[in-house]
Amino acid sequence: MDFLRPTTLAEALAVKAERPDAVPIAGGTDVMVELNFDHRRPDALLDLTSVPELAEWSTSDGTVRLGAGVPYSRVITELGESVPALAMASRTVGSPQIRNRGTVGGNLGAASPAGDTHPVLLALDARVEVASVRGSRILRAEDFYVGVKRHALAPDELITAVHLPDNAGPQQFAKVGTRNAMVIAVCSFALSLRDGRVGAAVGSAAPTPRRAPAAEEFLAAELPWGSTDALPDSLKRRFGDLVAEAASPIDDVRGSAAYRKHALGVLARRTLTWAWDEHRTGERACA
Ligand SMILES: Cc1cc2nc3c(=O)[nH]c(=O)nc-3n(C[C@H](O)[C@H](O)[C@H](O)COP(=O)(O)OP(=O)(O)OC[C@H]3O[C@@H](n4cnc5c(N)ncnc54)[C@H](O)[C@@H]3O)c2cc1C
Repeated sequence: MDFLRPTTLAEALAVKAERPDAVPIAGGTDVMVELNFDHRRPDALLDLTSVPELAEWSTSDGTVRLGAGVPYSRVITELGESVPALAMASRTVGSPQIRNRGTVGGNLGAASPAGDTHPVLLALDARVEVASVRGSRILRAEDFYVGVKRHALAPDELITAVHLPDNAGPQQFAKVGTRNAMVIAVCSFALSLRDGRVGAAVGSAAPTPRRAPAAEEFLAAELPWGSTDALPDSLKRRFGDLVAEAASPIDDVRGSAAYRKHALGVLARRTLTWAWDEHRTGERACA
């Protein structure tokens, strides 16, 4: 197996163009599992850990540009104020060791329906920046996921960054697992309330991570945006029902389809209560 180790983005893209079969490796927390279990025998690995352009984040014009290779531990410590829901999701990933290595770019590259960052990217209208020697392009997160563990990258492309709104108002992430840590989501949910718009997305509850458009439209229209009152239970219940309806989960070892739908309704109501409390009081809950 060839081990290719570029030290600049330009070099990495040139290598990927020449060797589209080379499997990118960032933190390796998915790739190494596949190699160890002999699920994959690539002819070449393309190590991205020495590419400085992938390892930084920056903000400008109300947008956070998060390099694909920034590990979760840095998202948690450095971006908790700017993108709280992504920090919340990052905190639930694996263990400290996994969070020190694993990256949002790797979560996207694996494109597992259960990946924890996906509902957050969808709810926040994130954009995925990808590049090749042919140039770069920006994809909406919902256009990135095209099937179970399949994404929209061309063979010569790499994920370079994710673009997210900076400090975009109340946002939440919640996940159900069979225990509190080191667990793949049974289901997960992310919510964002900003400027009269609602983002809502489910994870581990369909072949791909997906938005809940009917729930988003209902809530955007029904929320009493200017009010400081608590929300009526009937509104939260309807929102929860619409979120559950957006899912098309399967029965598997982690949970039944019926349980996943039920749990999504609960997560939707719960996160809405927290996000609305932040909206009406200005104080963040559970960040
Ligand atoms: C013990 C354990 C616990 C885990 N717990 C969780 C969890 O709770 N939640 C969760 O979501 N995940 C979990 N994971 C999975 C994994 O940690 C995440 O998916 C992580 O985000 C992968 O990031 P990485 O940088 O390690 O990716 P890698 O393993 O390096 O790569 C993953 C995939 O992305 C591709 N890739 C990486 N970078 C790029 C790039 N820049 N451009 C194009 N393709 C790229 C690789 O080729 C590969 O297909 C766990 C894994 C382990 C081993």
